[in-house]
Amino acid sequence: MNLVFLGPPGVGKGTQAATVAKELGLLHLATGDLLRGAIRAGTRTGLEAKGYMDAGRLVPDDVVNRLVRERLEQGDAARGVLFDGYPRTTPQAESLDATLKGMGRRIDGAYDLQAPDAVLVDRISGRRTCGKCQAAYHVKFAPSSRGEECGKCGGALVQRSDDKPETVKARLEVYRKETAGVGEHYRKSGTYALIDANRPIDAITADVLGRARRLQ
Ligand code: AMP
Repeated sequence: MNLVFLGPPGVGKGTQAATVAKELGLLHLATGDLLRGAIRAGTRTGLEAKGYMDAGRLVPDDVVNRLVRERLEQGDAARGVLFDGYPRTTPQAESLDATLKGMGRRIDGAYDLQAPDAVLVDRISGRRTCGKCQAAYHVKFAPSSRGEECGKCGGALVQRSDDKPETVKARLEVYRKETAGVGEHYRKSGTYALIDANRPIDAITADVLGRARRLQ
């Protein structure tokens, strides 16, 4: 089974995707994480992507599509994949369809998580990541047991540079202009479901898991 999580920045895609992928035994493939990993590793792709990410803009389709294709070639993708933060444009959705088709696979479900803008800004502004192990926290909704330090490894918690208020505004604008229409691609293939993400984390997880399990 292969699933796609759509939705604006801050809606909780990453949190939900991690839980749902684990429950269903899928590989959690988050393009944002792949790109941040490439930046940390100092690869050419990372260098190319950094300027776009810092400005809150989308990294060009060909760069992201290539990263995804390469990741799908690794053996652990064979059990099925949950795509998080990808596709973000219609050409990316078309590229993903073609890549999966070449592997005899398809997207079975596309879940579009939505919440009001005020909720998104609140969720983004409190988001923190461990600079060492990348564990994710939220100062209000999922605080670390060790305050400003990571509850898992003790590393310092930092705010993602693109989570600062001025970049968040740009990312929401980019979402509306370039990504919001991607849902239409999946409506056409009959795999689309709108998910109310303005609910407690567990209620959203149960909703998505219920829908995905009915596909199995
Ligand atoms: P995310 O972690 O999903 O919020 O992504 C962080 C940033 O990485 C985005 O603001 C984009 O600059 C870049 N990015 C992640 N996924 C994609 C994608 N599918 N297409 C283009 N840019 C992406």
